This record gives sequence, structure tokens and C-alpha cells, in this order.
Amino acid sequence: MKFDIYIFDLDGTLLNLGNIGVYADQILQKTLSRLNAPVIPGENERRQFWGSENNYIDILNNWGVSKAQDFWEHYDKVDFKQRKILFKQKKIALFDGVEEVLEKLYTHNDGKNIAIVTNTSDYVVEFFLKKFNIASFFQEVFSMGLKNDQQFAKPSPRGILSILEKFQYDQDIHRALMIGDSYSDIKAAKKANISACLVKRNIMGHDPAIIKRDFQPDYIIERLDEILEL
Ligand SMILES: [Mg+2]
Repeated sequence: MKFDIYIFDLDGTLLNLGNIGVYADQILQKTLSRLNAPVIPGENERRQFWGSENNYIDILNNWGVSKAQDFWEHYDKVDFKQRKILFKQKKIALFDGVEEVLEKLYTHNDGKNIAIVTNTSDYVVEFFLKKFNIASFFQEVFSMGLKNDQQFAKPSPRGILSILEKFQYDQDIHRALMIGDSYSDIKAAKKANISACLVKRNIMGHDPAIIKRDFQPDYIIERLDEILEL
């Protein structure tokens, strides 16, 4: 365990929501209906939206969505409502081994620093960390909210950089690892100049073309507990 700082993505990495790509797309469609979009765009157009990074307002405007700037506020409300329904139905859970891995890092003699950097909204994150009783493992959480605008969402390195600063990270002394299930996690980590670990979740969502893209993970794992061997 050569790393001093472990930064986790939440959805699809620690939290199992089923196929995260399908889930997010359903929430997108529900949010568009709520915002009275004249038509729900086709699958290809919706896929472009997810890859649009900071151009999402242009895309929403093209789709005829009024008040596009309020989109994420509505998205988060729809998302939270749906997650609470899934939670009641026991369709949201931690992936196997999550508590054990966090426990091992948390109790490690070298005093590992543990954090979350997620594109999910702060109140949603807080709710589920408490529900699954894992909040106390994390010294820091970077999520979307009043302080953190959507433009700071991954693949922006902003969240990771702010966590590193809080841990007083010195690149000459410390080693930091970002663990995530998607390309945006890998890109954010490499832009922040730290190591990146892709966890392959077989039910989902990670882009099979990831190995051909600009930013490459330093490690690819199948099970979360493999990070204890890195
Ligand atoms: Mg994820």
C-alpha cells in the first residue's frame, strides 16, 4: 500500500446503482420532461450530452429546454427522489468488499487519507453515506452543490486538486491514487497529475473504448480490494 491518499469516485465505484449509464440516462429523460422539453431527444443525442462537459447549456438550448441554467438543480431533485425509491426497494447497495477496504485503509498504521470526489449532489451523497454507515471513513468529500459549480465536475481536476490541498499533498513526498469506474475519473486524475485506477464493473457502464483514449489509467482492477495490493 504505497499510496498515502486514496480518492474514491462514488457512483459505480462504491455505490451500486445497477447500470449507471442507463440510470443516469433515465434521470436525464425524466428531468427533460419536468422542464417541459418539447421533445425527448434520441439516444445518440443524449449520449452526446453526457460527453459534452461544459457545452451542456448549448445542447439544452438546442433541445428547446427553457431555463437550461437550472437544469442540474432539477436533475438532482429527480435523481434524489429516484434513489430513495430504489433504496426502499433494496436496489441500491454498496459493492462487495467496500466496507472492508475502507476499514483497512482507515485503520492502517501509516494513517492513510481517504476522500470522495463525486459529480453527485452534496445532499444526495450525505444521505447515502449515512444510510450505508460509511461517512466516518472519509476525511473529505468533494461533491456538487452551492460551493462547487457543475463546471468543476469531473473530468475537471478541480475536485481532486482541492482534496489534495486539504491533505497538504506534496508531490515530492506523497503519493495519491484516484479510484473510479469511468473515463472521467481517469482523465480528472491524470489532469491533477496523480495515479489513476480504473475499477471494471461488469454490470455497467465503463466505456469499453477507454483503453484507446487520451488519458490512460495506471492500474486496471476487477475487484476493489485489489487496491490494497497496489
Ligand atoms: Mg462512477
